[in-house]
Amino acid sequence: MLLPGGLWHKQQRKRDFSFKPVTGTLEFGIAEISGRGYAMPEAVTRILQLALAQLAGEVPTGQRIEELCIADRQFLMRELQLHLGDSETWYSQRCRHCNESFDFELDLRTLPVAEGDEHYPFVEVELDKLEVCLRLPTGRDQAELADKEEVEIPAVLLKLCLLTQSREVDVDAFIANLSQEELASIEKAMEQASPGIVTDVQVSCSNCNSINPVYLDPYRLLNRGYGNLLAEIHSLARAYHWSEQQILALPVQRRAAYLTMIDADRGMSH
Ligand SMILES: [Zn+2]
Repeated sequence: MLLPGGLWHKQQRKRDFSFKPVTGTLEFGIAEISGRGYAMPEAVTRILQLALAQLAGEVPTGQRIEELCIADRQFLMRELQLHLGDSETWYSQRCRHCNESFDFELDLRTLPVAEGDEHYPFVEVELDKLEVCLRLPTGRDQAELADKEEVEIPAVLLKLCLLTQSREVDVDAFIANLSQEELASIEKAMEQASPGIVTDVQVSCSNCNSINPVYLDPYRLLNRGYGNLLAEIHSLARAYHWSEQQILALPVQRRAAYLTMIDADRGMSH
């Protein structure tokens, strides 16, 4: 698996990454970070730093993870969700036409991923009078925007991503002078150049056949919580008298194998 965008390192675009093996420590850490009330970009950076073994040929630092484009971060969060084994393929949705609940099947692994083009992460836009060069927004930009008002975001983002050759250019004045059409062209060019994962699908209701838009949250992992983890630690600690740390260090398959054995013993004693 390769990142749809990637990071530049010594004139080379690097797209490889790998996650650490799944243990309770990783699952526990993700639940802890998610529950701590960070702004979303900060939570994503911390979770990815905890979960990645390697990023673009390097040890993953918070700084490098912030430099990833937004699509790469969304891609990694969804891949991490699958890596943890959360690969359910059935979803429930309430139809916005007939108001009945219906189920649909969707395998996140089959959704297409758009990769960055050869100019990645840069975008050139030809406007009437001039050519504008920008870079695609990163996790760091997203963190800067986290406390901004909705209406300010487009201008602030443009200022962050605009690359100017000369220092004499007054960026604020330049942005303020752009027409609505020019702003729209810039936005469209950035959208086209950006890699991306699918976050919106259309699903037809099994009751009334009408089409419903469904949002597939790329950051769904942030809502994972502890799941059964605490109950599993409890069962294992009671059966084997291992410490919490020893239990969390177990690879997830081994934890599951022990739990099956505990369940089987319990079944026999009844
Ligand atoms: Zn319906």
